[in-house]
Amino acid sequence: MLRALLLAPPGAGKGTQGERLAQVYGVPHLATGDLLRRHVAEATPLGSEAKVFMDRGELVPDRLVVDVIVDRIAGPKPLAGFVLDGFPRTLAQARQSYDWGRLRGRTFHAVISLQVPEDELVRRLLERGRRSGRTDDTEDTIRHRLAVYAEHTAPLLDFYRGRDILVEVDGTGLVPEVTARIRDALSPLQLPATRTVHHFTQANPRGPSQRDVPALLRRMADTLEKLRPAKVHDVTFGTEMTEDGPWHHLTVYFHPSEPD
Ligand code: AMP
Repeated sequence: MLRALLLAPPGAGKGTQGERLAQVYGVPHLATGDLLRRHVAEATPLGSEAKVFMDRGELVPDRLVVDVIVDRIAGPKPLAGFVLDGFPRTLAQARQSYDWGRLRGRTFHAVISLQVPEDELVRRLLERGRRSGRTDDTEDTIRHRLAVYAEHTAPLLDFYRGRDILVEVDGTGLVPEVTARIRDALSPLQLPATRTVHHFTQANPRGPSQRDVPALLRRMADTLEKLRPAKVHDVTFGTEMTEDGPWHHLTVYFHPSEPD
């Protein structure tokens, strides 16, 4: 069971590596940015409050973020393991979650820092902005988010270094190479890696019907039906903004299991 945090500037590959690690270790991947964007897409009160900060590349106030993450980790389906990305992002959040985790035996096994030069970060984020239409991936906002990272989040590296759980990994090169480096760096922890959690991602075809959530759920059900018997481990829901409006996708993590 792995409890890890990916701590790196925007564009370093936290989301991509987080998903891959979650799959390898059989735990859910929780990205505060994704959880917040889901609130924004669903126009919840929290989402409307958070959007103003997110669009400016500012940090969302701690109380909103802490609610979102605690609800996910300690809510109706408590999680013993996870790969977190994007939380904690300030020293106040780090101290609060460290105290919270110590009380409940839920502190991190490892904090993974992905190292990527700034020029490469900007290049990757501009590219992502062009592809996904993320409203905070514009050059000015990107520069501001990098400055916010340097000011508020980089000090967390020392916080975790002082607790002997910081693992520093070169985040450049091909995605699988970076994953392999992280796994090598985690191997002294002797945490069981599992390949038994599989996943599939489902989305409607891009175009007029891309917002049709019931159709998306029917597709997911059809795919699961074909995969039977399978035990669903987690479902994550993502939304990207496109010219045709929101485009939703679901990722289902499952264990193939034998019939009873
Ligand atoms: P990300 O997808 O991780 O780049 O996050 C996108 C945006 O969500 C950030 O620029 C912040 O506005 C907000 N956000 C995500 N995680 C946090 C956090 N832990 N604390 C404050 N704001 C956050």
